[in-house]
Amino acid sequence: MKKGTINVKTENIFPIIKKFLYSDHEIFLRELISNAIDATKKLQTLASVGEYKDELGDITIEVLLDKDKKTLTVRDKGIGMTAAEVDQYINQIAFSSAEEFINKYKGKGETEQLIGHFGLGFYSSFMVSDKVEIITKSYQKGEGTEAAHWSCDGSPEYTLKKSNKKTRGTDIVLHINKESDEFLEEYRVLELLKKYCKFLPVPIQFGTEKVTETIEGETNEDGSQKTREVEKPRIINNTLPLWKGKPADLSEEDYKSFYRELYPMTFDEPLFNIHLNVDYPFNLTGILYFPKTKEGYEFQRNKIQLYSNQVFVTDSVEGIVPDFLTLLHGVIDSPDIPLNVSRSYLQSDPNVKKISNHIMKKVADKLESLFKDDRATFEKKWDDIKIFIEYGIVSEPKFYERAEKFCLLKNTENKYYTLDEYSKLVKPVQTDKNKRVIYLYTSNVEEQHAFINAAKERGYDVLVLDGIIDTHFINTLEQKLTDTTFARVDSDLTDKLILKEEPLPSLMNEDQKAKIREVFENNIDKAKFHVLLESVGADDLPVTITRPEFMRRMKDMSVLGGGYSFMGDMPEHFNLVVNLNHKLIMRLADDAEDENSRESLVKQIIDLALLSQNMLKGQALTDFIKRSVEIVK
Ligand code: ADP
Repeated sequence: MKKGTINVKTENIFPIIKKFLYSDHEIFLRELISNAIDATKKLQTLASVGEYKDELGDITIEVLLDKDKKTLTVRDKGIGMTAAEVDQYINQIAFSSAEEFINKYKGKGETEQLIGHFGLGFYSSFMVSDKVEIITKSYQKGEGTEAAHWSCDGSPEYTLKKSNKKTRGTDIVLHINKESDEFLEEYRVLELLKKYCKFLPVPIQFGTEKVTETIEGETNEDGSQKTREVEKPRIINNTLPLWKGKPADLSEEDYKSFYRELYPMTFDEPLFNIHLNVDYPFNLTGILYFPKTKEGYEFQRNKIQLYSNQVFVTDSVEGIVPDFLTLLHGVIDSPDIPLNVSRSYLQSDPNVKKISNHIMKKVADKLESLFKDDRATFEKKWDDIKIFIEYGIVSEPKFYERAEKFCLLKNTENKYYTLDEYSKLVKPVQTDKNKRVIYLYTSNVEEQHAFINAAKERGYDVLVLDGIIDTHFINTLEQKLTDTTFARVDSDLTDKLILKEEPLPSLMNEDQKAKIREVFENNIDKAKFHVLLESVGADDLPVTITRPEFMRRMKDMSVLGGGYSFMGDMPEHFNLVVNLNHKLIMRLADDAEDENSRESLVKQIIDLALLSQNMLKGQALTDFIKRSVEIVK
């Protein structure tokens, strides 16, 4: 037997491991199982090149819980270690790398978020254990390859002696400490295994489960197959997750059922998927799903799971994938993403940037081919996917360069156009006197119905842009498209939305105009409404309420947090547009009425305008009805 002291350079790191890693103790299991997987895969490699000639046999990794002894054991049938290897790998290499790691990050503010993104390896088992034993037998034969038993109780002293273990592989036995007794609960261990090990490449068994199986050749009286309940080993992982497969071998149904496997609590089917499969210049596999967006656009970020060689790492992928893709679901697996570093490091890592760009390119490729190959289906899905594409366009200039070709605009007739097609469609009719093309849009087909109608009557086309980020989207498109301006249908009088020529001259003199302005201003809330005098057609309404595009957009942006938060507290702002060419207004200017009936006439036409915008409420509505009855009388 050998006794020794682990080569401690600084201070005893065990208390530090325990204290420092307080917030995420559970990762120890992931680390130990990863080691077991590595040991098994190494043996498989040796066997495949003929260096290991015996039968591999069953290579299932076992996780064993002994509540009485208070131990949790991870057992593999991998390459194992000789005593000399234990000394080298565990006492020296693993220890010094754990020590190095601790020294590097000790006292750094980011530790909390760091944990869970790195591997402290074997020594993380001391976070939850009073004592750890390694009982191991190497695959090798001959002198010096006898089984070994290493034991350490959390002080720098360890013992290393011979063991009588007969079978190849390694048992890591954790004597769980008092504070960590949760890891002696079956449900808790199962939960961890499901979280971190669901897709590991070697079968992992934890306990048993009851399954119903049919009894061959035996039937019940009613002719049905006889079954029996049997206790079977419970394998917790799917060793061949779908993303490792070849896209050509997989069906639509395979992708859908894998989606259900990933998100058992989600009942919606994904819209479509993108299978990522790259081996140069970096290694990356994965499947991304476009989820069905819910009514009211409930954003569900952080559904993408990140794996490193099938080991679950994290499901918060900001900075790793482009921001807008965090809205997607699915898995990304890459050994090339440096996992044992902090998030801020990840975000500036050039490798990560490359990966991120690549994913974006793949997503754009897929969308483009969907559009090209089957435009009808693409259009059908558009309302669901537009949020992703618009978000991409708003947030990633590079994505816009690609999306330009397949980004669609929908009009009030439910027809879809590409940006190019739409520009060609409206240019002839909707170019104003300054040679700017005006794209008219509505954010609410019901509420803005009257304005939409009026625009259509003039031969204009109206787009439906009613999504949550459409305000941003419109701003971005205005920057990208030359000589194009967006105007909401209710932002001005329909006649003035697209100015083709100089406005009609007014027949009123300045005195009359001042009089008109005064009487209207006296009858509205001036903080909310701004009176505008316009000379439009005699057949147009005497008074119309509009919402100036610029102010409204600023306010919309403030709601979305686009750096305009100062606008948030401002009241909504409207224009009250008075048509100076309308007969009624002319009568008012000519003093044709007495004071009283003039008041009530002005009130009445303002209320009518408010009513048409669904803005007449409460007392004002009651007054309007009373007044109307008076007038009708
Ligand atoms: P890492 O796995 O990152 O190399 P660890 O501290 O987890 O670091 O492990 C140190 C070394 O100990 C491993 O590289 C491996 O050589 C050896 N080792 C750990 N666990 C096992 C095991 N179950 N079977 C065989 N060797 C192991």
